[in-house]
Amino acid sequence: MKPSIKIIPIIIAAILIIFQYFSSTKFRNPETGKVSRGALDSSDEAVLGLQSYREVLSSSDVVASGPEADLVNRVAKRLIPATGVVANDFQWEVSVVRSTQANAFCLPGGKIVVYTGILPSTKNEAGLAAVLGHEMAHATLHHGSQRLLKQGLLQTALVGTSAAIGDMDTGKRQMVMAALGAGAQYGVILPFSRGDESEADQTGLIYMARAGYDPQEAVAFWERMSQSGGAKPPALLSDHPSDTARIQRLRDELPKAQAEYEKARRN
Ligand SMILES: [Zn+2]
Repeated sequence: MKPSIKIIPIIIAAILIIFQYFSSTKFRNPETGKVSRGALDSSDEAVLGLQSYREVLSSSDVVASGPEADLVNRVAKRLIPATGVVANDFQWEVSVVRSTQANAFCLPGGKIVVYTGILPSTKNEAGLAAVLGHEMAHATLHHGSQRLLKQGLLQTALVGTSAAIGDMDTGKRQMVMAALGAGAQYGVILPFSRGDESEADQTGLIYMARAGYDPQEAVAFWERMSQSGGAKPPALLSDHPSDTARIQRLRDELPKAQAEYEKARRN
């Protein structure tokens, strides 16, 4: 009897996967020392991030001035230098969008979008710094790029970056954009993995502390979020579950972040 599994396609697939893996971009997180691989290199990320940013802004009510824009800009301005060398090739930019959605994200390459709907939950400057630090960490740690590689979307992404993204079919395109972090905007929620979430928590905490914000406020923010899961949970929670495990992990990271905070306050 012949075996029912065909071996040749498996070998070809394995070779392709090995090739994809070793031709991918290697990233090193200077905060944790962790090495990872992603489907896109930094310049491809920047191209896709910028395109996505423009699309989001062109279909949104952008708040160019006033107290909300001032607040967001002030916090971002303090956080950006705190990201250190890893973000040297980032072109940071931040925009505020009028929306009832409680959400914020940072696209690969450093384009940040904050919805006014999140400001009541962040409550104060340090609370906002906790959210932005976390979102910026997803970008500096290249989580979108890693996610693309993991999902085997390398091919799609390469086609996309060769300026042909407009010709990509809508479904694929939405997947790429969602993988890069603009999920909610495209109606496709693609949660980051738990590992990515805790890495972004850990690194984001360091960023906010280094920027001179009390890292305790990050714990306070997620505690507020975990208590607010009422009738209509904030959009941020759809891909950032706020559970006791997350809050505990943040608490575990506090001593290291507190040391950064003390250092920032002395300077
Ligand atoms: Zn996250």
